[in-house]
Amino acid sequence: MTESKTMLGGELAGQVALVTGGTRGIGRAIAEALAAGGARVAVVGRSAERAAAVAAELPGSGHQGFACDVADPDSIAALVPAVEEAFGSLDILVNNAGITEDNLLMRLRDEDWDRVLDTNLKGAFLLIRAVSKGMMRRRHGRIINISSVVGLTGNKGQVNYAASKAGLIGMTKAVAKELASRNILCNAVAPGFIETDMTAAMTEEAQSALKGQIPVGRLGKPEDIGAVVRFLAGPGASYITGQVIVVDGGMVM
Ligand code: NAP
Repeated sequence: MTESKTMLGGELAGQVALVTGGTRGIGRAIAEALAAGGARVAVVGRSAERAAAVAAELPGSGHQGFACDVADPDSIAALVPAVEEAFGSLDILVNNAGITEDNLLMRLRDEDWDRVLDTNLKGAFLLIRAVSKGMMRRRHGRIINISSVVGLTGNKGQVNYAASKAGLIGMTKAVAKELASRNILCNAVAPGFIETDMTAAMTEEAQSALKGQIPVGRLGKPEDIGAVVRFLAGPGASYITGQVIVVDGGMVM
């Protein structure tokens, strides 16, 4: 057994985390951070093979990959019981899976709106509802929704995406109020521009113009988000709920 595969005794030891969109980018970094904290992680993506491959590479042991399309209610309905059966519990839910389908308002098609809202917002709602039953019974849970600064500021060409990310913020606060008495905390993280496949399409020119608007002078790294999610999942965040933590190098303030 290599050192990276030994049991890790971090602050999340004994806990089980489900991370949607855990196969790449920010979600993968979140899965790595939670695993490094000692949690066992259910890595979720649309492909079972990709999810299993990432689960096998996480620090510690006991992680598993699961296939689920979060835009498909039946797929979510099957996922949560499968994770709870495989791990015997589910303590931390991270709604990270998300897509963009950008276009200016007048060119935005109904199907672009539906695809983005179904994936980014309805999928998160269905997962929260599905996991909260067990969390309420166990009187313990942490729910972390990955929103975006675009949900706070809006953005040209992203009416659908901004609506989904702002919707996540409202949902986070409502869920926080409903579930706090059961010791279930719900927060949102709003990343700024993070270096992933989602932002890779930007030209060099656009990237350097962007850096000029970020006080710390760089784009974020997926690990910058992973570290904050690990904190929100852990004991140090036990008095934080209904909040939006902006992680953007100071871009929006
Ligand atoms: P990414 O690199 O494009 O990865 C997206 C992830 O979501 C992949 O793991 C993908 O998994 C998964 N996914 C997409 N559609 C899915 C579906 N229908 N069902 C299940 N999984 C699905 O994106 P990212 O940049 O890491 O972004 C992650 C989250 O952060 C998103 O919610 C995004 O809106 C948010 N965010 C990103 C930035 C940024 O600058 N990158 C900024 C603010 C907020 P598979 O392809 O394996 O299915």
